[in-house]
Amino acid sequence: MIFGFGKRRDDDDDDDDEDEEEEIDLVNFQGAVNGRSADLQANARLVQSALIPTRELITDALQKRAELVKVEIKGEKGQTSYSVDGMPRAGSRMPKQQAVAITQMLKVLSGLDAKLKGKHQVGGVKAEFEETKYELTVDVAPQPDGTERLSVRIRNMKLKLDTPIDLGFNEATRAQIRELTSHRHGIIIVCGPPGTGVTTTLYAIVRGIDVYLYSIYSIADTGTRELINIKQFEENEGDDLEASIMRMMREEADVVLVKPIRDAEATKQLMSVADRICIVSEMSAKDAASGIWQLAEWSGNKQLASEVIDASYSTKLIRTLCTKCREAFRPNPKLLEKVGLPPETKVLYRKGEPEVDEKTGEEDPPCEKCDGTGYYGRVAMLEIIVVSDSIRKLIASGATPDQIKVAARSEGCLTFHKDGLRLVAEGKTSLEELQRVFKA
Ligand SMILES: [Zn+2]
Repeated sequence: MIFGFGKRRDDDDDDDDEDEEEEIDLVNFQGAVNGRSADLQANARLVQSALIPTRELITDALQKRAELVKVEIKGEKGQTSYSVDGMPRAGSRMPKQQAVAITQMLKVLSGLDAKLKGKHQVGGVKAEFEETKYELTVDVAPQPDGTERLSVRIRNMKLKLDTPIDLGFNEATRAQIRELTSHRHGIIIVCGPPGTGVTTTLYAIVRGIDVYLYSIYSIADTGTRELINIKQFEENEGDDLEASIMRMMREEADVVLVKPIRDAEATKQLMSVADRICIVSEMSAKDAASGIWQLAEWSGNKQLASEVIDASYSTKLIRTLCTKCREAFRPNPKLLEKVGLPPETKVLYRKGEPEVDEKTGEEDPPCEKCDGTGYYGRVAMLEIIVVSDSIRKLIASGATPDQIKVAARSEGCLTFHKDGLRLVAEGKTSLEELQRVFKA
């Protein structure tokens, strides 16, 4: 009964046209990620009062395509907020009591200790909505005023941005990946702050390798991703990174995918074998040049670092225009020149604005697809530094990230700006959005 279908309450929308409200199915929760079964019986009262509101809150977030929903207590109210395509938005308010109950309910559903308060807890719950599976990461953090803040990160398990084509890699970039991995030696890294598509880009690169020519092994935690034609390698207990890679080499691996590089120890071990095998990994760094610099620092041997680092990729996410409501316009030559687009560009797109009815002066309802934001989804912009002979010399001499960046630009490497302009020219995003991303 409890896990059946329900009707969405009309509590937060400005949808005043009640006649048109359809009955919709609510999200179904399918167990904690940690496998601990939710004791719904022991929490019968909580379930009674909070399960439906919890399902409504998450359903609403899923319908908005939110990747994050938060509930915070402010005075006597619970304030919800969402993040859609990386943009925060305020949501509805609810009585404090309900916000507390929803937080407790999500703790139970995600296998956390509901009785424990005042301690940071993180868990996960599987969910299904409209035949799509999701994984929700539930994070409950104590606040200075004694309340708890609930954050639910939503991951759509169906979204596949895993091949170079999906990611928008052009043919030149794909050819470059094939060329780099064909050397059978050297380190290729993907850099970026967490949550910016770094791991997605990493897998895209791996998938861009010709699996019929090269055997690819992985000791990275691939989570729920399915990696076709990549051998997941079992590490021996007690083996370090270098020992594991040596074992993969004995099995004739050409390319290995390793866990994110986080310290000097891992860097040194990777560099000691990188002359004999191609290593692909990710790291947290501001941009491609900073990643190269960091590896050189960690290696303790800049000469060796300069010899084995072959390429550094970095990604930045940018929102894509809603194709249902985007507006085409003919750019004037001055604008094209100013932003650096070719003068022959005939058409660009910008975010659609709701039409105003001439008679009544009222705005048309916002676009249904994007909820009037003008954007729908995100795509990764790429920056790529392929380490040339002159950049190798710079690395060996202890150059700063900025010096590496300047050299790479003068050699015509792909920059975020160039890649972003390509997306603008293709009508995938707008100049305004490009500007916003660079200001942030
Ligand atoms: Zn739209």
